[in-house]
Amino acid sequence: KKTISVAALKSLVNEAYEQVKSAKGGANADYIPYLANVPSDLFGIAVSLPGGEIIEAGDTRYVFGIESISKVHTAVLVLRQSGPEKLLEKIGADATGLPFNSIMAILLEKDHPSTPLVNSGAIAACSMVGPTADADAKWKAIEENMADLCGSPLVLLEELYRSETATNFNNKSIAWLLKNYNRIYDDPDMALDLYTRQCSMGVTARQLAVAGCTIANYGLNPSTGKQVFDRALAPKIVALIAAVGFYEHTGDWMYTSGIPAKTGVGGGVMGVLPGGFGIAAFAPPLDDAGNSVKAQQAVRYIARHLGVNVYSGD
Ligand code: GLN
Repeated sequence: KKTISVAALKSLVNEAYEQVKSAKGGANADYIPYLANVPSDLFGIAVSLPGGEIIEAGDTRYVFGIESISKVHTAVLVLRQSGPEKLLEKIGADATGLPFNSIMAILLEKDHPSTPLVNSGAIAACSMVGPTADADAKWKAIEENMADLCGSPLVLLEELYRSETATNFNNKSIAWLLKNYNRIYDDPDMALDLYTRQCSMGVTARQLAVAGCTIANYGLNPSTGKQVFDRALAPKIVALIAAVGFYEHTGDWMYTSGIPAKTGVGGGVMGVLPGGFGIAAFAPPLDDAGNSVKAQQAVRYIARHLGVNVYSGD
């Protein structure tokens, strides 16, 4: 494994920021009205190291919608509460090759949600969170687990939550299709509401870098010193991310970056180099698959110039 010097990383993060800052292309998500109105030129990069250092450039303290990156957090919570076997049995750990909001993800896997990192499996994951049948206590568990991973509490973006609740017709159908196949493990409307709320949490690139590093650091949060989850769970969560973090473009992403990472339509990307670091980048304009254009370029740039890649073992 490479030793990464903090000084070298600092200049590389600045360099990546300068290189990517004026990149064109992509557009804000607009199927959730709130997201269409976030300033498009925001851009930040943060890297969190196991020693506690955070290296950052640009808008790393801007609070934006975590969206689908929250699926990683809640998958960690399900792993903490129920263990890897139950997650595999009740949801699955497969790539889908499909868009994030696909209803087919359920049907193709023979009535199985396939992975907690796409909408169907993420709604199923919210249904699995304990204690079941208690929305408030479930929400508390989800919120606390997010804070554990990010190193500080997240805030609910009320306007985003309202915006998303008013427009989540597709996700409603997914929740009830899961019910039809006995693949949702609590009240479907409640699970959907928890999912919508977790997606509407506001987060910063700094917090996402720390969450990525907590996973890279085998469950030990580099900012708080808390062992958030059992270290044996770390490769399970990385396997989920590497399989489907970029939905139907995950193969291309892993091939070009070598860094397991999860995206969200709020414009965030959270990457994990196991044993190495957590990295996050944020910029609202997205490509056709709903992945941030600049955040992808920034993470790729840094990985390539550091010469790190999970597949080379460097
Ligand atoms: N809350 C969004 C949705 O369910 C999350 C999508 C995403 O970030 N890919 O549509």
